[in-house]
Amino acid sequence: MSRLLVATNNPGKLAEFRRLLAPLEADVVSPAELGITLDVPEPHDTYAENATAKAVAFASASGTLTVADDSGIEVAGLGWEPGVRSARFADGDRARGADLVLERLAGSPDRRARMVCWLAVANPDATGGAPEVELFGGIVEGSIADARRGAGGFGYDPIFELPDGRTTAELDDAEKAAVSHRGRAVAAALPRLRDLLAADARMPAIAEDA
Ligand code: IMP
Repeated sequence: MSRLLVATNNPGKLAEFRRLLAPLEADVVSPAELGITLDVPEPHDTYAENATAKAVAFASASGTLTVADDSGIEVAGLGWEPGVRSARFADGDRARGADLVLERLAGSPDRRARMVCWLAVANPDATGGAPEVELFGGIVEGSIADARRGAGGFGYDPIFELPDGRTTAELDDAEKAAVSHRGRAVAAALPRLRDLLAADARMPAIAEDA
């Protein structure tokens, strides 16, 4: 079975990736399962650059086909912030980020928001060159709820309301996969990942005396 590394140590994100990538029937592994402990900074101004940096670092360290994402929530009433800085919002306290958005938005009539995901797929080069990277995007439009609702998901899910009035923390796993920014980005990447995994499976093993 071909192997695919998901470059995240965030348990909520990892669980979601495993479900979204299940149609590939690949051996989906985490950095911890490969014994890789890399802490890749996300200093860039774009999701695509951060996702690329993570995917390249983990693909180079593991020699394994790798997917990494960078995502964020963009809130109209906050000048479309925190965006690419979502993970660093609330001084990096991920559990507090959603509360801080609610606080900052208190009294604002404009509650439009969207969640954005960029996915980088890095294919390691068998000859030791730089991995090849391809990017896929996904976006979901909604608004910020008045208060937290729902026990599912993670991060900003309890405050991100869809046009049907439910927050993404009130969706079951399949519902979130169908509409979420990450679900859409992974759906866009699946055909390419399927091809790359098939090519990987066809690679002849390197002979011992080669
Ligand atoms: P990163 O992509 O791991 O840098 O995450 C950026 C920020 O967005 C973190 O605070 C995450 O908790 C949050 N986040 C990422 N994906 C989701 C999601 O699917 N739902 C809610 N929050 C998310």
